[in-house]
Amino acid sequence: MAGTVAAVNVAANLAEVRRRIAEACREVGRDPAEVTLIAVSKAQPQERIVAALEAGQRVFGENYVQEAARRWPELRQRYPGVELHMIGSLQSNKAADAVALFDLIQTVDRERLARRLARAMERLGRRLPVMVEVNTGEEPQKAGIAPREVDGFVRLCRETYGLEVVGLMAIPPVGEDVALHTALLRKLAARNGLRAVSIGMSEDFEVAVRFGATHVRVGTAIFGPRPPKPQPGSGSEPGSGS
Ligand SMILES: *Cc1c(COP(=O)(O)O)cnc(C)c1O
Repeated sequence: MAGTVAAVNVAANLAEVRRRIAEACREVGRDPAEVTLIAVSKAQPQERIVAALEAGQRVFGENYVQEAARRWPELRQRYPGVELHMIGSLQSNKAADAVALFDLIQTVDRERLARRLARAMERLGRRLPVMVEVNTGEEPQKAGIAPREVDGFVRLCRETYGLEVVGLMAIPPVGEDVALHTALLRKLAARNGLRAVSIGMSEDFEVAVRFGATHVRVGTAIFGPRPPKPQPGSGSEPGSGS
């Protein structure tokens, strides 16, 4: 029913995801402190996000500048220490808003965006770390720098635009083994002197951790399924064709 939200035990889910990350680390001899859990809160009801904050979660990922702008300034006031990552595609004309709102931008994927971000950071006096998004599956429709162009693009971001590049991020193709994509991303990061490797979501974060992810982005395993977006033109608003 519209307006109702299924009960989700966010605190229990969070504890379970953290336990699984620690377990995956243990299997391969990694220190769990090397892995940052990013709770992906896009499209989730506010009460689930508050539940995560109450349970002590502080690192969150959002995909849309406008949604983050509606939600986070107030939550940051109530819950000190929030670290907000931009993980969705970022339009160049929203670069300044993103710099003002977020603490780290994971999706730098083209020169124009790098330039806009650098300018906005200078103007706002707010220098954020960034990651470069890599299209590890070389999917034509997908954002991200092709693997063979990563070294050059990282250099451009650093040398031409003065961006503080701290890592690489990828969204592997649906249905492919995340292990291979994690290994590739990690290799590309290492040869560019980058520590952060952001890969792994609800379905596959443990594999990503075993293969070297430093940042996993987990949404539904923490918050439950995202409520469907209201369909424009459906429902009872005037002119919906009824
Ligand atoms: C939505 C999203 C996630 C989280 O996906 P889940 O399957 O809900 O864990 C992670 N990364 C990106 C870039 C996303 O857009």
